[in-house]
Amino acid sequence: MNFTEFGLDPALMESIESTGYEVATPIQEQVIPKILQGRDIIACAQTGTGKTAAFLLPIIHRLLQHSNDGQVNCIVLVPTRELAIQISQNLEGLSYFTSISSIAVYGGNDGMNFATEKNALSKGVDFVVATPGRLIAHLNMGYAKLSGLQFLVLDEADRMLDMGFHDDIMKIISHLPAKRQNLLFSATMAEKIRGLARKILHEPDEVNIAISRPPEKIVQEAFVVYEPQKLPLVQYILKNTHFKMVLIFCSRKQNVKQLNRELQRARFKIAEIHSDLEQAEREDVLLNFKSGKVPILVATDILSRGIDIDNIDLVINYDVPHDGADYIHRIGRTARAESDGMAITFVSEKEQRRFADIEALLGKPVKKAMVPQELGPVPDYRAQHPGRSAQKKKRRYGPPQQRRK
Ligand code: AMP
Repeated sequence: MNFTEFGLDPALMESIESTGYEVATPIQEQVIPKILQGRDIIACAQTGTGKTAAFLLPIIHRLLQHSNDGQVNCIVLVPTRELAIQISQNLEGLSYFTSISSIAVYGGNDGMNFATEKNALSKGVDFVVATPGRLIAHLNMGYAKLSGLQFLVLDEADRMLDMGFHDDIMKIISHLPAKRQNLLFSATMAEKIRGLARKILHEPDEVNIAISRPPEKIVQEAFVVYEPQKLPLVQYILKNTHFKMVLIFCSRKQNVKQLNRELQRARFKIAEIHSDLEQAEREDVLLNFKSGKVPILVATDILSRGIDIDNIDLVINYDVPHDGADYIHRIGRTARAESDGMAITFVSEKEQRRFADIEALLGKPVKKAMVPQELGPVPDYRAQHPGRSAQKKKRRYGPPQQRRK
């Protein structure tokens, strides 16, 4: 589903385009219309699914239609300062061409920030992205303008409960107007989350984007490389290994076409498939692939969901997929039925962060394979944990600032 179909504000659409999002992720497709309708939501979704934009976009849209001036309009409660920074940065991008204002409120920084936060909370700001403890420190002083609050988001609610924030959350809620829209996101739906939901949400719609983990029998590896090393690497792998059916994914059809051209020039038996092909052409390509006539296929994500081709023994992600869900769908094309399979992902420097998000979703790092020496030196993998890269950004650019209306 394309973002144009949600009927979002034009300035917001401009921001979405400049962020580079084109197609909504499954959670966005399900959640955005419900939030626009004003429903309370309880959603089971992990990091990497696009859940942040799933709640930010419809709230920004609603606030562009009606924001209470001089008031805090939305509070997003999160368990850690890393997540507060990350969400604030996402919000900055997604509201770039709009008049929406925001501030991150989290502990552990200096008194200067406290004064800035106090100023925003007492003068009013559209979004406050906060860790519970720090927000309570402000609420205790009584200057926060909360009577016009319209939205409350609890993100990673399961982690907040694990970290012992239950009472803080309830205390914050006691300061809020009763009539508001509540959105709760959690990676699990344990009973304690349902208990919290019963206390806070009003007739919620339940959304479940359970991502099944990839089958254990798929051997997953990643090559950390510079972008120009990807072409020689794919050639090296195709020449020096003996896989019978290889499916190579690229995110853009231009890249599919280019890679197909390059590999044809290098005399590999290969074909391409993407949305520019007519249905009959696609069927032809698939038939040739399934019959073994053309053993290598380069594809966009149109092939990653639902298409049943058994016996693919190697999937190569020539670039890192958008998110964890796409990754799992892509690599799930191998090791179907009884057969085993391997999934290899090429990770360039600028894709490291996205790959770390996927690893976080998988719950463990993917083994990094040795790049053949003849390809020359390779970059280090620096993005072990999404939280770390968020912190690095903060050091370089400073904390997210409140933008004036
Ligand atoms: P999240 O699950 O919110 O942590 O998002 C995971 C990553 O996906 C972030 O880097 C987002 O910027 C990115 N993302 C979210 N929605 C989309 C989309 N519709 N298209 C492409 N990337 C997205």
